[in-house]
Amino acid sequence: AKLILSGVSASIVALSIVAVVAYFITRDAITDTAMNGLTSIATTQRQQIESTFSHFEIGVESIANDTQIRRLLRRFWATSDPLDRLVLNQTLTDRAVNDGHGGAFDLHSLDGQIVASSEPGHIGPSTYDPTQEGVIISVGLVGRIEGVQNISLSTPVIFDGRTIGYATIHHTSAELDQIVTRHLGRGNTGETLLITLDENGAARFVTSLRFNENGDYYKSIDDGGEPTIEILSLSGSSGSGTRFVDYRSQNVFGVYHYIETAKVGLVVKIDSAEALAPVVGLGRGLIAVIFVVSIAIVVSAIVISNHMIEPISRLTSAAEQFSRGKLNARVLVEHTDEIGILSETFNIMAGSLQAANDELECRVEERTADLKRSNQDLEQFAYVASHDLQEPLRMVSSYTQLLSKRYSGRLDSDADDFIGFAVDGAKRMQTLINDLLIYSREGRREHEYVKIDTNSLVKGVLNNLKDRIDKVGSIVNFSDLPVVVADEQQLVSVFQNLIGNSIKYRSASRNSVIDITAKRSGSGWRFMVKDNGIGIDPAFSERIFTIFQRLHGRGEYQGTGIGLAVAKKAVERAGGTIWVESQPDEGSTFVFTLIDRELIDDEAHDDKKDEFSAAS
Ligand code: ADP
Repeated sequence: AKLILSGVSASIVALSIVAVVAYFITRDAITDTAMNGLTSIATTQRQQIESTFSHFEIGVESIANDTQIRRLLRRFWATSDPLDRLVLNQTLTDRAVNDGHGGAFDLHSLDGQIVASSEPGHIGPSTYDPTQEGVIISVGLVGRIEGVQNISLSTPVIFDGRTIGYATIHHTSAELDQIVTRHLGRGNTGETLLITLDENGAARFVTSLRFNENGDYYKSIDDGGEPTIEILSLSGSSGSGTRFVDYRSQNVFGVYHYIETAKVGLVVKIDSAEALAPVVGLGRGLIAVIFVVSIAIVVSAIVISNHMIEPISRLTSAAEQFSRGKLNARVLVEHTDEIGILSETFNIMAGSLQAANDELECRVEERTADLKRSNQDLEQFAYVASHDLQEPLRMVSSYTQLLSKRYSGRLDSDADDFIGFAVDGAKRMQTLINDLLIYSREGRREHEYVKIDTNSLVKGVLNNLKDRIDKVGSIVNFSDLPVVVADEQQLVSVFQNLIGNSIKYRSASRNSVIDITAKRSGSGWRFMVKDNGIGIDPAFSERIFTIFQRLHGRGEYQGTGIGLAVAKKAVERAGGTIWVESQPDEGSTFVFTLIDRELIDDEAHDDKKDEFSAAS
């Protein structure tokens, strides 16, 4: 996972850096190209517009400076001869036709009347003031077609140093439209606009718009928030950039110029979205490439890591099995790389350990068999010795007792003492040999497992110990003891030894109380015999279960040190364990476990639940 993660993140970071750099370089290049295109269009169109306006100027100048027209006008003022007007009209018409730009030529009187025109309909009073300087752009003047821009330019007609009238040229914006509406090669949003200020100082379009759903291109430009590029074009300077907003509130790349001679602003622009469309495509392409390459890297990282991790996992799993004791666990070695060598080494190590373990087990088996044999020999010896010694001992005992009976007081006092010692010694020896016999019999006896109600069994034991309990006044508590499957004699011997000891090793400072309880423990039972006696130093808690080991002299407590050894042997032969939990002067709790043979038997033989007779 770490390998995959680091591979993927390293390559994604590298790819992303390359992609971001490529994106910005391309974006700059595309922006530059778009701006260069707009600038060159703006330059060309500016020249065309300037030359159109200068053509208007030349046209009107040629009328004003024409000697024939000046003379005719002079004469007309003098005579008001309609023939002169006709000749003037005709001359102006000829000029208009020759001019070939579709303009109309008028001649104004000084008091605002049109006296002659290439369009006879113009003659009469005029709302146009020819004394205004330069190009005047307005709408609907002097009978022009409604809604079409009227571009007018006047110049005084001078005769003999006096102004005798004004020559005026009127054009529609059609010619300018032709220049600015060539959208070919300018995408879907490329647009050129001419803007002027009307007589109220409001910015208005001179030419038709590419995006003009209502057809009202002679509309004023809303300059609500930040100035649009159209408004900027009227500021008297030139500029270009990629962060303008146009009259449609669209973000645009644009170039603007103020054309002084015509008092119009020129705007050449294209929507940023369209100009940058190739960059958006590139961005998407780059993201797709990053995505595809990342997937390819993930897949190859998975394949490579599997190739590397698979043998490591096999080795790990074999090592784990081995550590759990499955010594025949080995690794399949497929390659001779470092991991292959490691696996091979593991196999060799595991083989050596398994061989060593097998040898050890063999030795342990041999030693166990030896021990078992010598144990059996010892038990046999103890049994034979204790059994066969009983007869001669009985003889020694009865004759020393006879001696004591017959000759006590008849010999000297030393002889009486000696006989007493001999009698006592013989008695002790008899007890010892009896206990030893009990101990060795416990190891030889065949067990007979039957269902036992431990409540009644304990009751029986207490009955056996009744005299001692009554004498001492011990209180023995027990209830709800379970029914178990066990060897009765064995269980009696265990309880009798433990309860007997609790009575024997009671504390002199308090009444003896003994609690016998039992609880479930795993698949068996745990019995506890708890007293409030003198307690045992934990340092001796193991030693007391060894045969003949006692913590007290005969003078303090009677006993041979065999009771707990017999109990331990009985419990362990039944498959349980026994131990003591105690503190000096605080009492002791002897605990022993008992396998639940009924449960085991239930699982093994469902039909023979009640009858039990099994050899240990
Ligand atoms: P014995 O009682 O004949 O000495 P046991 O094998 O029954 O032999 O006990 C071994 C030793 O364990 C005893 O000598 C005694 O010191 C100690 N012991 C056994 N049971 C108790 C008990 N309930 N409280 C205190 N000490 C005990």
